[in-house]
Amino acid sequence: MHHQKLILFDFDGVIVNGIDEYWLSSKLACEKYLLTNSKNLNINSYIEVPKIFIEIRPWVKYGWEMVLITHEILKIYEPLNNLTKNSFLENYEENCSNLLLKYSWKSNDLQQYLDYARVFQIKKDVKKWISLHRPFNEVISFIKHAKNKGYIIGVISTKGKDFTSKILSNLDIFPELIFGYESGAKVDIISNLSLSYDIKGFVEDRRKTLSNILQNKHTKFINCYLAEWGYLKVTDKVDLPQGIKLLKLKNLEELFAN
Ligand SMILES: [Mg+2]
Repeated sequence: MHHQKLILFDFDGVIVNGIDEYWLSSKLACEKYLLTNSKNLNINSYIEVPKIFIEIRPWVKYGWEMVLITHEILKIYEPLNNLTKNSFLENYEENCSNLLLKYSWKSNDLQQYLDYARVFQIKKDVKKWISLHRPFNEVISFIKHAKNKGYIIGVISTKGKDFTSKILSNLDIFPELIFGYESGAKVDIISNLSLSYDIKGFVEDRRKTLSNILQNKHTKFINCYLAEWGYLKVTDKVDLPQGIKLLKLKNLEELFAN
């Protein structure tokens, strides 16, 4: 059977830099929807995205974690700051789970608050909301080029699918396949896609996600690319296993070599 060639891209950190949007939306989610706690927050204490929020970004997997972290940064008492950052990151996942328990919050609820905050901004001024995402122009051009060459393009985002589609169409790219967090784990999405497509590469800036692809028996043959321009930890680029290549913005054409 002849399968079409498919290239897969993560969204935030690979196609766009959405850090400004994440901060503003998470802050809005805290302010509007974490009602019982908002009085304990310094909502107006940051005009720009705080450095600590950018520094923690490489550890984040799901949108709801952003709301939680934003809450911790904005807290008046014992906020997450430079003094507590390292111990927080040492056990990142466990610390996030413990915080959910401490406040009796559910991750699904926080994700929904983030989505509400996005819908609120989109209704208010969609152009402004879209402008908070800074595209990596090389990637946008490459996707157009790959489509012209007959490749199918897929985008797998941990944002909601509708939000992702809105931003992509505004950037004038129309991938055939778009998946949001509603579609489940990336490794499962890609495993399913591998049944119907000839996957030529997966570009992602979260090393752990790529490791999961390599450890799954259905997806371990896929060429994985760590996006050097994305949100990386300093250690991410070091000692990459066979199967994960570090990809630079100027070398996107390497994706055609497979
Ligand atoms: Mg990413």
